[in-house]
Amino acid sequence: WMFESLSDRLSGIFDKLTGRGALSENDVNEALREIRRALIEADVALPIVRSFTDKVRNRAVGAEVVKSVTPGQMVVKIVHDQLIEMLGSEGQPIDLNAPAPVAIMMVGLQGSGKTTTTAKIARRMTQRDKRKVLMASLDTRRPAAQEQLKVLGEQNTVDTLPIIEGQGPVEIAKRAMSAAKLGGYDVVLLDTAGRIHIDEPLMVEMAEVKAAANPHEIILVADSLTGQDAVNLANNFDERVGITGIALTRMDGDGRGGAALSMQAVTGKPVKLIGTGEKSDALEDFHPKRIADRILGMGDIVSLVEKASEAIDAEQAAKMAKKMQKGHFDLEDLAEQLKQMEKLGGMSGMMGMLPGVGKMKKQIAASGLDDKMFKRQIAIIQSMTPTERKKPDLLKASRKKRIAAGSGVEVAEVNKLLKMHRQMADMMKKMGKGKGMLGKLMGGM
Ligand code: GDP
Repeated sequence: WMFESLSDRLSGIFDKLTGRGALSENDVNEALREIRRALIEADVALPIVRSFTDKVRNRAVGAEVVKSVTPGQMVVKIVHDQLIEMLGSEGQPIDLNAPAPVAIMMVGLQGSGKTTTTAKIARRMTQRDKRKVLMASLDTRRPAAQEQLKVLGEQNTVDTLPIIEGQGPVEIAKRAMSAAKLGGYDVVLLDTAGRIHIDEPLMVEMAEVKAAANPHEIILVADSLTGQDAVNLANNFDERVGITGIALTRMDGDGRGGAALSMQAVTGKPVKLIGTGEKSDALEDFHPKRIADRILGMGDIVSLVEKASEAIDAEQAAKMAKKMQKGHFDLEDLAEQLKQMEKLGGMSGMMGMLPGVGKMKKQIAASGLDDKMFKRQIAIIQSMTPTERKKPDLLKASRKKRIAAGSGVEVAEVNKLLKMHRQMADMMKKMGKGKGMLGKLMGGM
């Protein structure tokens, strides 16, 4: 397995960490140095390694102490989460959400596994997803290329566009799209020509095919065994043609895993699929969480920490619910709520959990409801005295001025926060008079 040696290295580091009750700053730094070395040996891009260890350090410092978990276990969990983030967080399958026929353009260098991967995808969409798929080879340079795709189509019972000698790539692409429309196909896979390395005519050809077929996805096929070269290739293709995702082939080989580990972090484009063999069914979705779990081999510790943190959140929620039922909601409580929301990843994290709100993010940022909003609001409350937090009515002009200065905001923002608090407190009082419905609601959260 590609990540075997990285996995061995990390489990050695973690065994040392989790075997101890307390961790000194030195212990954590030593572990981070070793993690850094392990990632570099796995051929992860250097800037990515650096930001990885920085983030782990920051999170480890800021981590809340959770009951029944050792600091070492906490660090394992933090590394696990960071690894998932580096790999791209959520798995992203190929998206077919567009009017049929949906064109998918496959690009990449010669020998990367482009034609094989095209056939693998077509086979899976046909057999598993019950789509009607048409494949077309646009490689007019290599005489055997179109024939190769045709044979793969026959082997996997996927239709291929009939070969017409003498047509160029753009003509073939157009013919494929109109044949697909006429034939009622759901998906058209366009297997473009490759080269030994990137050159100008290839990029021009890709741009022309893109303009002719208007593909919904452009998938770069890259050989994972080439490590950082694959990452650079992805950057190049993305700059020149624009890609929507990556398929990494030869993940069954004994590479060091660096391409898979840093691809998303460097290029910002998701690895959507991995090729794990020569056969037509050797294709898998790329699941960051599953891969992180397998690399760390620490699934039990991770779920232990997750459960422990959930328990704490539930405890706090229950306490809060009780207070609210009594119609009591002071600024301390508001600060507690804001911290909980911040934990969920701030505004963008929370929005990210809702489907289809990507476009709204810009508007939100423009309206000042950005990620720092919770932080600022918490800072305002922290600039108050405990008495002020309990009795917001005390807050007159001079106190507000002091608080604004203390938290680095305008007085208007302090007023906004107080208004929000008043509205929430009123609402809670009203709901509290009901039959503890809010309590149930909060308890279940
Ligand atoms: P193309 O020139 O990019 O179209 O490359 P091909 O699709 O012809 O593939 C080149 C070689 O790589 C073939 O022998 C494939 O069987 C092999 N290949 C493709 N994908 C994988 C993979 O995921 N694992 C392994 N082991 N071999 C692969």
